[in-house]
Amino acid sequence: MKEYKIAALAGDGIGPEVMQEAIRVLRAVEKAFGLPFAITEAPVGWAGIDAAGKALPDATLALCKASDSILFGSVGLPDRDPTIPKEERPERAALLRIRKEFGLFANLRPVQLPKALSHACPLRPERQGDGIDVLVVRELTGGMYFGQPKKTETLSEGVQRAIDTMVYTTPEIERIAHVAFRAARLRRKKVTSIDKANVLENGILWREVVTRIGKQYPDVALEHMFVDNGAMQLMLRPTQFDVMLCENMFGDILSDEAAALAGSLGMLPSASLGTTSGEQTFGFYEPAGGTAPDIAGKNLANPIAQILSTSLLLRYSFGQNEAAAAIDRAVAEVIASGLRTGDIYSPADATARKVGTLEMGTAIAAAIRR
Ligand code: NAD
Repeated sequence: MKEYKIAALAGDGIGPEVMQEAIRVLRAVEKAFGLPFAITEAPVGWAGIDAAGKALPDATLALCKASDSILFGSVGLPDRDPTIPKEERPERAALLRIRKEFGLFANLRPVQLPKALSHACPLRPERQGDGIDVLVVRELTGGMYFGQPKKTETLSEGVQRAIDTMVYTTPEIERIAHVAFRAARLRRKKVTSIDKANVLENGILWREVVTRIGKQYPDVALEHMFVDNGAMQLMLRPTQFDVMLCENMFGDILSDEAAALAGSLGMLPSASLGTTSGEQTFGFYEPAGGTAPDIAGKNLANPIAQILSTSLLLRYSFGQNEAAAAIDRAVAEVIASGLRTGDIYSPADATARKVGTLEMGTAIAAAIRR
């Protein structure tokens, strides 16, 4: 059987603590499902600067290139050496470099709110239905953030003009639409495509292309929604959504709005996907949160975002859906059993028991079953 090569880059702050638990869970999956994982750890971020003088050391980049996917922690420590220029700081030198190097064009952010964590959600319980479960699929390399011209010019004395350009080509929309429809097939088979077709040329093209690609997925229901309404509906009735397909800027905003529904950054994984070859897609998997310096090294961090990142990795890069489902199930079981890290703990819940990073990870690993 083919070995799955995973580069594990823990990074800074809580990165190493939560990564350790994610690897523990992967080892349990390896055993239960007989999947051979070759997991190699390497430094990145300030850990990379300390080890090799660079946020993304050459050896770490070489490891990533030789791997099938990257499991990433988080990088950046705001209090470390302010004299290091922005381009060399971990957030840019490591994260942006990896995104570019591997052509990661699709960002997937699942937001799940289990019933047991209802208290952590800012919405009233009656708006939460049987639990919220939305996947935001965001285009990551086009649109307003990258379109040219992009500049600020002086028109006359004291009058300046800033220009950003929203540009999408048909192939860019096609490839992200395929990602969304394929993801929907693994879920509840519904795509809500977000645009602003009533105002933007980009919106009209987006809607046309998504509709055309949707015909190749007759088993997936497709609806279109204007972005302003989408933002409102996420607050009013989030349970109506399965997959939300968004261009870059709309996805940036809506994925954070959706994230707020889960109550804690510690619960939110994310995937950034590149090209597919054969049955595998190169992907970069990380928690949505950062290095949480305020709680680092204290066994307080919630490892679930990092653990759910491994589930995304198995599902979207390796097509190992059963193993991925086993991780999701184990997380749900452990939460239902009452274990809580501080970020999701509520003293009002009599069945809840506060635990540390290590105990949470160990419990989830022990709950992995085929
Ligand atoms: P943060 O996400 O690190 O922390 C925000 C809050 O959420 C903190 O109170 C933190 O304790 C909490 N939190 C985050 N993850 C948690 C977890 N797993 N369990 C429990 N609580 C958790 O954001 P920040 O403080 O703005 O940033 C800190 C550093 O992380 C900065 O240097 C920033 O640039 C970096 N950062 C990196 C990434 C990345 O590597 N992709 C993403 C975001 C921020």
